[in-house]
Amino acid sequence: MEIIKAREMGFCFGVRRAIRRAEHIISIIPGSDIYMLGEIIHNPQVMKKFKEKGITIVQEIDKVPAHKYLITRAHGVSKNEKDYAKKHNIRLIDTTCPYVKKLHQIALSLKKEEYQIVISGDIGHPEIKSLLSYIDNQALVVQSAKEIKKQKNKLSKKVGLLSQTTKDIEQFYQIIKEIFKYCQELRIFNTICKATRLRQEATKELAKIVDIMVVIGGLNSANTNRLAYLSKKIGVETYHIEDEKQLDLDLFKDKKRIGITSGASTPDYITKKIIAEIEKLNK
Ligand code: SF4
Repeated sequence: MEIIKAREMGFCFGVRRAIRRAEHIISIIPGSDIYMLGEIIHNPQVMKKFKEKGITIVQEIDKVPAHKYLITRAHGVSKNEKDYAKKHNIRLIDTTCPYVKKLHQIALSLKKEEYQIVISGDIGHPEIKSLLSYIDNQALVVQSAKEIKKQKNKLSKKVGLLSQTTKDIEQFYQIIKEIFKYCQELRIFNTICKATRLRQEATKELAKIVDIMVVIGGLNSANTNRLAYLSKKIGVETYHIEDEKQLDLDLFKDKKRIGITSGASTPDYITKKIIAEIEKLNK
């Protein structure tokens, strides 16, 4: 049995940067003085480690007392949250990825130039919620070309199109094709980050040559879910797991080539543990 890893997988630049910042603050400030707004990244094992260091995870900023430290998510903090922190003397440790900040800047300039903003993204995802807060919620958020078709009457003549950083490029192309039918001027910004694109391409490539794919990462991680979706779409048996405890080794018994990939928020040590478990079948 051969185990083949995707040529691009695991932690991305933005996640490494966010974790480094959080670890730095934890190394110099007592855990009891540190709060975290939601999950810094969508990975249960990483979050467990932070909790063990004594930091408090909150979903709402009004649960954070004044003068405490608050670590934000890698995929953005909303304008209201920033304003609240300032007003209540909460010390914000902003770990927002620079690619997400770039997305905010583009949206703001499109708004200023009076373009209708359309975003390929999930309305409930923290990145989209934070983005919308900077543009007064004035954007149409869609998941597919079909949604554009359904909502064509809501489209203006002058549209600026963006994507959530972790979305699928193929879906973005389909949305472009559809939207192009209805507006007179379309400005397109490919805001899908390079790390996401490379991981998606590598997953599709690998899924074509293996008998089974193992996609490793948080079940609540948008970018990992997307890798699992793309792999399934190729037609290969795909198995999305968070850690080695979820492995069912029986699934690999009649397989010759096993493909492994992991999301941008999955630590390498988890992937290594899973590979070590599968490798035991070769002994
Ligand atoms: S997936 Fe891309 S946008 Fe998100 S944290 Fe990583 S590098 Fe930044």
